[in-house]
This record gives sequence, C-alpha cells and structure tokens, in this order.
Amino acid sequence: MSRWIVVLAALLTFSSAGAQTLKVRHDHDPWGKCVGELSFSENGIVFSSEKEEHNWSWGWTDIQTVDRRSESEFSILSYADQKFLLGRDRPFDFTVLEGRGMDDTILGLIQSHLPRPVVDRLPEEVERVDYEVNVKHLHTFGGCEGVLRFGPDVVVYDTSHAKDARTWRMGSAIVGVWSVGKFDLELEVYEREGGDLLRTRRFRFQLKEPLDPDFYYHLRRKLVPVR
Ligand SMILES: [Zn+2]
Ligand SMILES: [Zn+2]
Repeated sequence: MSRWIVVLAALLTFSSAGAQTLKVRHDHDPWGKCVGELSFSENGIVFSSEKEEHNWSWGWTDIQTVDRRSESEFSILSYADQKFLLGRDRPFDFTVLEGRGMDDTILGLIQSHLPRPVVDRLPEEVERVDYEVNVKHLHTFGGCEGVLRFGPDVVVYDTSHAKDARTWRMGSAIVGVWSVGKFDLELEVYEREGGDLLRTRRFRFQLKEPLDPDFYYHLRRKLVPVR
C-alpha cells in the first residue's frame, strides 16, 4: 500500500472522529436558561456556555443516560447529585435552537460509547419488520394504543401518545420479556422514571390479536439468553 494511502486513511479516521456539535439552550430547573454549544466526541460530551459556571465536560462514564424526547429536546442525566433535592441525580435539559438536532448519527455515537442504554422516545422506522402486532399499552388507569414492531435488532412502540413512543435496542435496552397468555406481552426495559435513578421499567401490553407462539419463543431465546 502506498504511503499516501496510509496518510489519507489516517486523515479520514481523524476527521470521522471529530466532534459533532449542536447549538442549544440549557433549560434551568426550575427557571432560567443559558445558550451554548454541545459537542459529542469519542471522549464524551462538552457544553460550552455563555455562562462560565455552566461550562461542563462529561466523560462517558460520568453519564448515566441520555433521554431523547425528540430531535430538538433531550436530557443528559449525570451522576452528580442535586444537593437541594436530597441527592437526586442531576438531569441537564437541552433544547436545540437552530440547525441540526439530536439525529440518529449523534444518538448512534452516544450509544456506541455510553456504557448504559439511552432512552429513545422517537419511534424508529423499522426497515425489516419480522413481526408486528396492534396493542394497547396499559397504564395505571387506562392506556394508549399503537403498534409494536419487531425488527432484527430493535423493538419499536409506535403510538400517537408521543410520551410513550419508544425505540429499544435488543442487545442493550431490554432486560426481559414475558407473556402470561396469548393476549399479553410485557417488556422490562432500562429507563428512569420520574427523574429517579436509572432503573428498569415495565411496559405491559394487551394484544389486540393473538401472539404467534413461534415468534414469542424465538423472541425469548433472543432476549433472555440461557445462562
Ligand atoms: Zn445553563
Ligand atoms: Zn402508554
């Protein structure tokens, strides 16, 4: 291989490792804001703010999770305590101001470095649907309706109730799957609830059509490997 090809390859690797940046507003809790730039790289996430005291740099292991509510709104949950809230972990809420948002490229970069799974509330377009079923997601009172779609490496809950729409990665986001009957399916996933620590949460679905037993058998084998 010519030396120049090696140099070129090194340069390309270097540029692909360059930071991805977003122009954002940091929404303070309970009120106020500051404006700055968030950059995502191999090393972690850096926030350069107009307010000097809000310049932060997180390595990937300083972050518990990233919660993508939409391409323009997301939170970073760090391990830092909020002293005034009895040590509750501190979420940083951001809103994209202009230009590029939290797209799949940036989320992919986060997913490939963050040791723990992200929360992705954008239902992904599943390219190859292996199985889909119409469902009602059960809440404490009532529920919301939508479709569960299973692809080779994702499970998507698509619903008009935007708060509950999700994309879960098979390998990292899902802890377990159960069914107590052919019209029932429950997924246990990593997700923080109500600003609490990152803990698991159960999504229980009532199926509007019977679950295919073969599909369920293979899904369990895939998600709950035999130890
Ligand atoms: Zn701020
Ligand atoms: Zn729901």
